[in-house]
Amino acid sequence: MPAATDFLRMNETAGPSLATEQKLGEGRREAMSGFRLGREAALWLGLAALLLAFSGVSALGLLELRHSAWIEATTNARNVLKLLSIELSHQFTHYDEMLRRAAAGADDPFAAAPPAPGDEVSASGHATAADGIVALFLLDADGTLARTLRGTPPALASFAGEAAFRAQRDDPALGLAMTVTPKGWGATGGEAIMLSRRLAGADGGFAGVAVELVDPRRIRALFAQAELQEDDVMAAVSTEGILLMRRPAAPQAIGRDFSGTECFRSAVLAPSGFFRDISPVDGVKRIYAFQRVDDLPLFVTFALSERGVFASWNRLAIATASALGLLSLLAIGLAFVVRRELKHRQRAEKAIRRSEARLRLITDHANDVIIWLNEDFVREYVSPACRSVFGMAPEDLVGRRSRDLIHPDDWEAVEQTLRDARRGRGNLETVYRLRHRDGHYVWVEARYGHVAEDAAYIVVLREVSRRKEAEERLAAANAELAALARTDGLTGLVNRRGFDEALARESAAAGADRPLSLLLMDLDRFKLFNDRYGHPAGDDCLRRVAAAIGAQAAGTGATVARYGGEELAVLLPAMPAPAAEVIGEGIRAAVESLRIEHPGNASNGGVATISLGCATIEHSRDGGGALVEEADRMLYEAKRMGRNRVASRARLARPAPMRSPGAEAERLRAVEAFRAASRRLAEAEIHAIAAEAAALLDAPVGFVSLVGAEEVSLLGRYGTDVARLDRSQSICTHTITGDEPLIVGDLRLDPRFEASDLVAGALGLRFYAGAPLFLPGTAQVVGAVCAVDFAERPPINPERRQALKDLANRAAARIIAAA
Ligand code: GH3
Ligand code: MG
Ligand code: MG
Repeated sequence: MPAATDFLRMNETAGPSLATEQKLGEGRREAMSGFRLGREAALWLGLAALLLAFSGVSALGLLELRHSAWIEATTNARNVLKLLSIELSHQFTHYDEMLRRAAAGADDPFAAAPPAPGDEVSASGHATAADGIVALFLLDADGTLARTLRGTPPALASFAGEAAFRAQRDDPALGLAMTVTPKGWGATGGEAIMLSRRLAGADGGFAGVAVELVDPRRIRALFAQAELQEDDVMAAVSTEGILLMRRPAAPQAIGRDFSGTECFRSAVLAPSGFFRDISPVDGVKRIYAFQRVDDLPLFVTFALSERGVFASWNRLAIATASALGLLSLLAIGLAFVVRRELKHRQRAEKAIRRSEARLRLITDHANDVIIWLNEDFVREYVSPACRSVFGMAPEDLVGRRSRDLIHPDDWEAVEQTLRDARRGRGNLETVYRLRHRDGHYVWVEARYGHVAEDAAYIVVLREVSRRKEAEERLAAANAELAALARTDGLTGLVNRRGFDEALARESAAAGADRPLSLLLMDLDRFKLFNDRYGHPAGDDCLRRVAAAIGAQAAGTGATVARYGGEELAVLLPAMPAPAAEVIGEGIRAAVESLRIEHPGNASNGGVATISLGCATIEHSRDGGGALVEEADRMLYEAKRMGRNRVASRARLARPAPMRSPGAEAERLRAVEAFRAASRRLAEAEIHAIAAEAAALLDAPVGFVSLVGAEEVSLLGRYGTDVARLDRSQSICTHTITGDEPLIVGDLRLDPRFEASDLVAGALGLRFYAGAPLFLPGTAQVVGAVCAVDFAERPPINPERRQALKDLANRAAARIIAAA
């Protein structure tokens, strides 16, 4: 991938400025266009040279072939002409011999004459007319037929006007002359070849002309032996230029005089040779080979039509030219394709260069640090922004492992992110610390990408120290806020929300080996404190009590909370019940020892005290709800039993401390006084009180009891006939230990009653609610107004509790009033 490697090369040189980059770009562009022209010109020149070379070689070959065709044709022609001239020489030498004899005055020139070539020889040894001589006759000097030696001469009155006669008469040196018979000579002499010789007188003067007519068929037969191509022509021409014979036949041309033509004139000068000309007969372009027939006044020519000679060469030339043309077209087409590809490539290269330059500008000027890591997390490129972020130059960082600068605690997260980036999923961003040149760490946010084809990573880093600081400040503020949200403003203790959270958390963590204890506390008779000293003083008291509790719980891992109003709570994780009671007792004593004056709390020494309910659980499925309920019940018990004390299940299980004998004797006197008073009232009225108690709590049974020394008497009864109970078995025995109603939702779960006959026996009591009955005008408790049920009940609300208490007070008042 060129982009990647070039990208990496960028670190090797310092990056040029934007301006120089642009200048460089222009220079490069010019150089590029020159280079492009050069490349293109080279392409076309190369192609042209190639095509020229092909064409040249082909042309040379073709010329060579053409020459060969020429040589072959002319050689053939020459050979044919040679053979023909030999034949003609024989033939015409014979004819001339006969003419010569006739001219010499022989009576019978044919006698003892050698046979003409191809002739049959007669028995007499005479050559016959079959030799082709159709007429032989002598003309006198006037042109008149003087003697006929063979055949029939043309029937002319005088031959004096004939060209042949005149030529012989006028030119004593003419010798043998050849021509064809003139047209006017009629059928007899038509188409015959005419030979003539001068007759010389005794004085050597002109004496006439010997004329010989030869049948052309024999000559034609000779001509016919040669093989002719189309448009080839063979001809016999006299040295005077008269066409004597032609093949193919051209009757209108026979006898024509060609002596005027340039070619003829040049041919006459040489015994044999060639020339090229356009035939005056048929206009065909030909190569003429000519041959003088010995010393006879005769030429033979063999004219080859150029078209014929070069026909196959022409075909070859056309085929070659076509192939060459096709090849050229193909090459040109290919060249265009190559040119287009070249252009594409150049354009792509240009685009790549441009994008590289841009990329370089971006990376060089980016504020973020761009890093290229190889597979082994070694830096191969680092953008210049690293100077401002780490105080280091790119060359200080390139070639080093990326782990070296990363905070040891952060490396694992970074490595995981790199792994995620390679897989192309997961978190590709991470924030970690990098060591600055100065040694301190800077926070950076990094985004990772994996470049699969290079097995490398690209990392973009941004310094986020300031952001990180702000985040940390924010986190601290949030933590503070969260703490504040869980802090009670008055006491500085954990507030109700914080307590609920701690309860939920700790109850979930509770177990047999980690019991969870709770102390629920309430200031005793605090309303009276407020009433006397005012609310601000109440607040101050509350603060001091809270501080005392906090000091007692310190170091136990407890959560000390303001549960609500003047109720406080200490949640003790991993604290068994006995230890919790000890801590509870410590708290109680600590508050009492503050000695905050509280006259309203006279029964507890006239100082501020607290009552505590203590509960412990080992498991919880309701988020600690049962624990709070139990602690609340115990707190109630502590209040009911006189306040300034700790109540717990274990403590309730212990026998109640007996009143002092004096106090008990006084109470028993009050019991007897009450009993005496009750006797004056109709029994039904007391039963009605019992019924009212039952109705108040929707209970099946209600009663009014008096707790005597040994037994408990049920003065008023509703839903039961029992009139007496053993004191030790009676629940009312416990009701008289406090000044608040005793209410037990499930007697079987209360350690004080679980073993009682009333509960465990056949009767099976489960619920008890009883308000203490005071002898009016005294603080002596004599018995209780109660309601019981055979099924357990949820805790009853304070209104009902108060109603029961009121009922007890009204009943007491009524009974005493009756007295
Ligand atoms: P006891 O609990 O012993 O049965 O008697 P008590 O007088 O404390 O009874 P109760 O719980 O009904 O009264 C609570 C009083 O506590 C009522 C209220 O005036 C007082 N109180 C609750 N919260 C605050 C507080 O934040 N500041 C002050 N000064 N008084 C409070
Ligand atoms: Mg209270
Ligand atoms: Mg209170």
